[in-house]
Amino acid sequence: MSAKSLRELFVEELRDMYDGEKRLTRALPKMARAAESGELQTALRNHLKETERQVTRLEQVFRSVGEKPRGKKCNGIMGIVEEGNKAMEEFEGPVLDAALIAGAQKVEHYEIASYGTLAYFADLLENDRAKELLGETLDEEKAADQKLTTIAKSRVNRKALLAGDESEEEPSSGLRIPEAVRSAAASMGLAYDRRPSSGRSSGRRRSTTRRSR
Ligand code: FE
Ligand code: ZN
Ligand code: FE
Repeated sequence: MSAKSLRELFVEELRDMYDGEKRLTRALPKMARAAESGELQTALRNHLKETERQVTRLEQVFRSVGEKPRGKKCNGIMGIVEEGNKAMEEFEGPVLDAALIAGAQKVEHYEIASYGTLAYFADLLENDRAKELLGETLDEEKAADQKLTTIAKSRVNRKALLAGDESEEEPSSGLRIPEAVRSAAASMGLAYDRRPSSGRSSGRRRSTTRRSR
């Protein structure tokens, strides 16, 4: 089916986000339970409440264009949620927290792009009510993204960086990562996993040498 008009495209995009937001109301409680950081748990639970209001707001937007609220599978958010589920199986503790933040920020950026477009379409279609509602949600998504950045930079990513240290008593292997590299990684918000392993550590070692080149 081809969307024939901008109005139809607008409604299609609304359906995409309606489905996406509903998926997030199911994913966020699971993410909050998996988070170790209390600050991150709170942020995810607060955003869940916001997300529930965003679903209601989308229903108001549907009504403003005389359409029944209906979702259409949002592959984008579904994919990001699936990646988050995989991270919950593979990681734990502060490193999982870093992964949860990364996933949540991918969602926020997807949403910022979608709501930015939708608000602009509403403007073009001269639907002031829809423009206002979509703008409110857009602002919430931007604030949620910034909150996650703050949490990552304040504590979580640094803890993730150190998580490898706590798991080993002695830095007996020759894979000690120079402090300069570690703090550089931290300042970029990177979770640098330095878990030493037998043969497969050459990649990590290489990234250390690469920096000194
Ligand atoms: Fe949202
Ligand atoms: Zn989508
Ligand atoms: Fe969101």
